[in-house]
Amino acid sequence: MARSEVVVDLGALRHNVALLAGLAPRAETMAVVKADGYGHGAVEVARAALEAGASWLGSCSTQEALALRAAGIQAPILAWLDAPDEDLAAGIAADVDLSVSSLTDLRRVEQAAEEADARPRIHLKIDTGLSRNGCQPQDWPELVEQAKKHEVVAVWSHLACADEIGHPSVDLQAKRFDDAYEVAKSHGLDPKRHIANSAALLTRPDLHFDIVRPGIAMYGLNPVPTDHDLRPVMSYRSHVALTKRIPAGESVSYGMTWTAQKDTTLALVPAGYADGVPRALSGRMEVLLSDKRRPVVGRVCMDQIVVDCGDDEIAEGAEVLLFGDGSRGEPTATEWAELTGTIDYEIVCGMYRPRVRRIYT
Ligand code: PLP
Repeated sequence: MARSEVVVDLGALRHNVALLAGLAPRAETMAVVKADGYGHGAVEVARAALEAGASWLGSCSTQEALALRAAGIQAPILAWLDAPDEDLAAGIAADVDLSVSSLTDLRRVEQAAEEADARPRIHLKIDTGLSRNGCQPQDWPELVEQAKKHEVVAVWSHLACADEIGHPSVDLQAKRFDDAYEVAKSHGLDPKRHIANSAALLTRPDLHFDIVRPGIAMYGLNPVPTDHDLRPVMSYRSHVALTKRIPAGESVSYGMTWTAQKDTTLALVPAGYADGVPRALSGRMEVLLSDKRRPVVGRVCMDQIVVDCGDDEIAEGAEVLLFGDGSRGEPTATEWAELTGTIDYEIVCGMYRPRVRRIYT
C-alpha cells in the first residue's frame, strides 16, 4: 500500500476541457500542461485534453515540450520560457513552437534553427502590462520587422488581472494587444492572436481571439466566481496506519500544541509535509475519515498527521481523504489554499512528489 496517493480523474478533466472549448467555439484550445500538468501529470493530461477537444498544448520550457514529444504526442506545442542553455535546436527539430520576446530571443532561435536545419515556428510575445517577458511596445515594430522572414504563427500576450472581474488593466492590456496586432498586420503578417487564460476564457469572450490558453480551469479549479460545472480533477488520499487510545491530558505531536480534553482515539495517517500537506495547516485542517470530517490535531509532521476520532471505532487501513472535489463533504484544494494564504494552483502543483503515488481513473 502506498503511503499516500494523488488520484487524477481524467474523466473530470475531459469534461472540463470540453466545457471550456464549448465556451470559446471560434477559438482553438491550448491546454496548458506546464509544471507537469499543474501536478497532475503532463503526458496523461495532454492526451486526455487532446481527446476532449484541445488542439494545442502549452508548456513552459522546451524541455517540457520535448517530454511530451518523447511520449509520442504530435499536437502543436508552444514553449514560452526557456533557460539560457535550453536545447532550442532539439525543440525546433521536434516541431515545438517557440515564443520570442526580443531580438536576443530571435537570434537564439535563428541560430538554433540553423543548427537543426529546420524552419522555426514563432509566437511573438508583446508585453502589454504584466512586465514579465514579452517585447516592450517601443521595440515591437523592429522585432516584427526582423521576425517576419520566419513563420510567425501568432502574436500573443498574458494578462495580469483577468481573475479580478472588471479590473481596468484588462481593457488596457487588450488595447495594447490590439495595437501590437495592427503593427504586425501593417508589416504584412497575418498571425493568430492569443491572450486568454482561464479567467479571461470564462469572463471575456471578446478576448478569445484564435486560441485560448486555459490552465487552472481545465483542472477543475475556478479562478473566478462563475456557475460553470467545473469538476476538480485531483484528490488526495491516504489511510490509517495505526490507531490508539489516549487518556485525557495527553498531548499530541511536536510542541505538544494540542492536549486531549477527554479519553480519545487517535488515527495516525502517513502523510506529512514531505508528502504535500502544508505544515501551515497545523491546528486548522480536517480530513474525511469513515464518512465524517474530523480534525487533525497537533502539528503536521514531515511524514505524518494525527486525526482525533473521539469514541468512534476506526479500522486500521481505512481510507482517509485529505482533499477532493468536495462532493462527500471533504476539504478541497481551494480550502487548503484559503487556510494557508495561498492559491489552489500552488496546492495542486505542490503535490508532485516522489513518494506520493499518482494514479489515474
Ligand atoms: N498562459 C500562460 C503564458 C501562463 O503562464 C499560464 C499560467 O500561468 C496560462 C496561460 C494559464 O493560466 P490559468 O492557469 O490561470 O488558466
